[in-house]
Amino acid sequence: MFIGHYGVAFAVKRVEQRIPLWLLFVAVQFVDVVWAVLIFLGIEKARITQEHRGSLPLDLYYMPYTHSLPGVILWSALAYMGCRFFMPRRASALVSAAVFSHWVLDLIVHRPDLPLYDNARKLGLALWNYPIAALVLEAALYFGLLFYIRAQSRPAFAILGIFILAIQVTVFWFPVLPSPKIAAVIFLAGYIQLAGAANWLEKKYLGGQPQL
Ligand SMILES: [Zn+2]
Repeated sequence: MFIGHYGVAFAVKRVEQRIPLWLLFVAVQFVDVVWAVLIFLGIEKARITQEHRGSLPLDLYYMPYTHSLPGVILWSALAYMGCRFFMPRRASALVSAAVFSHWVLDLIVHRPDLPLYDNARKLGLALWNYPIAALVLEAALYFGLLFYIRAQSRPAFAILGIFILAIQVTVFWFPVLPSPKIAAVIFLAGYIQLAGAANWLEKKYLGGQPQL
């Protein structure tokens, strides 16, 4: 899943206004941020496949550190502990939940490649086998949950959403990714840029954030 994850960021922002939106944009994709780094380092593994047009053109055959259930629990716990240095308990727990939400949403769309433990017992409900339905669900999550943030910022985030959706359709439907490592670099740059865009739009339209 890609754009759908960001819907969770909007929902959490509504629950706790004082968490910076850029942090939530990183949190909901944190598992994939680490994944991109580990793919680049060759620790986790994937290969390009054009077998399933309309979904991620990668066979994610080895990702026990980021996308296993124990893995995501660990990343969520680390996120909580990291946030506790500068945030109260409740806000830290919400950021941690945002990190965990990544795995739950991935579970809906991924084909069975999310390990229950180590690299075994792989889970995935495989909505990606129905690419249009998967895309509609992702878009619904982003644009649906967008309504939870302050009204004057919605058009700007809607435009950002159309941009993200265009990237997703390009990557999913056309063979644009040359190799897993280059894909990892492109994705990582994308996650950072989108968090930067969220920060910029938040400052512009939501007036920055009060201190936690
Ligand atoms: Zn993921």
